[in-house]
Amino acid sequence: MAVMADYSKTISFIKELYGNQEFTPLSVPVFAGNEKKYLEECIDTTFVSSVGKFVDRFEEEIARYTGAKKAVVCVSGTNALHMSLMLSGVERDDEVLTQALTFIATCNALSYIGAHPVFIDVDRSTMGLSPDAVKQWLVKNAEIRKGECFNKNTGRRVKACVPMHTFGHPVRIDELAAVCEEYHIELVEDAAESIGSRYKGKHTGTFGKVGAISFNGNKTITTGGGGMMLFNDEELAAYAKHITTQAKIPHRWEFRHDHIGYNYRMPNINAALGCAQLENLDKYIASKRETASAYAEFFKNIDDIEFFVEPENSFSNYWLNVVILKDKDAQVDFLQQTNDNGVMTRPIWELMNRLPMFENCENDGLKNTIWFADRVVNIPSSVKL
Ligand SMILES: *Cc1c(COP(=O)(O)O)cnc(C)c1O
Repeated sequence: MAVMADYSKTISFIKELYGNQEFTPLSVPVFAGNEKKYLEECIDTTFVSSVGKFVDRFEEEIARYTGAKKAVVCVSGTNALHMSLMLSGVERDDEVLTQALTFIATCNALSYIGAHPVFIDVDRSTMGLSPDAVKQWLVKNAEIRKGECFNKNTGRRVKACVPMHTFGHPVRIDELAAVCEEYHIELVEDAAESIGSRYKGKHTGTFGKVGAISFNGNKTITTGGGGMMLFNDEELAAYAKHITTQAKIPHRWEFRHDHIGYNYRMPNINAALGCAQLENLDKYIASKRETASAYAEFFKNIDDIEFFVEPENSFSNYWLNVVILKDKDAQVDFLQQTNDNGVMTRPIWELMNRLPMFENCENDGLKNTIWFADRVVNIPSSVKL
């Protein structure tokens, strides 16, 4: 019988890193700046809802921070993704190339439109969509007809590709952009987890047609709940604003609408929280990166565990730290021992192709994806101030 590994050294290290609390959570938000002040301002001025100065300010500041031409707020990262796909021309029965190694929101968003995911493998170096695997799948399965990409086997149009910057680590996004361009596929980035993360100095979410960020409570900065779309195309951004605000034609008293619209606009109180959080984002990322280097240093001396470090050419926000258990049968033991001892850890999400809604979707074998699913565990990653 195999001897169960003893993770007590690792557990002590993590506990100490976070000040020997009885319970060390995975990731909790920090409100150390102007949050209360800005929220109070919303209440005092009565501008708590869909109109108010913080909404515009948050959009402008995120655009400036990310280098996007325009940013448009939403009430969640999931609907930012939904809108991003719609604005990229994805329609019912189209196919969308994406990762099986992602949070459910990526696939839910494309399903709202009636599109179908095709799951392509990730890179071992990034945990995100592999440009080589995407290219390989396209060479084998795709044909271009009248400037559009089609899956030869299903006859469906392949309209978009959605890489996800897993746990904040950038994918090889410039190579993905090149493959997408070659095959006339729109690139939509799920940058929900990667605010502050850059690839070759350029902010994630700004490489494709649209990029979607999340400000859910567990992300690097939060608005309570919220999302943002990043655009390089100002006209498309203006249209995004229009359809996420009920597609109302601006007028002082008339209620006229020229399109099916959505009520996806972020309330001012959430944007107020976002403005305050953004002021501290670089500080939070610096803290996260410091924690990550402490982990990297510690795990160098632990034989059976590898700490995942940011890929080449990347600056990662290290949203959630990742360890890779070298023995693929060790995952349950590690989860049990850490959680039993007050250190919160969890495995990577159940792969999308293993969920009942997506189990019949096409995939390319997902070799690295399955390798990660068997070995990855997230360990505590909260900002320390
Ligand atoms: C958090 C997250 C989302 C969705 O964001 P919400 O704001 O929770 O709707 C989408 N994709 C990924 C990969 C995420 O981690």
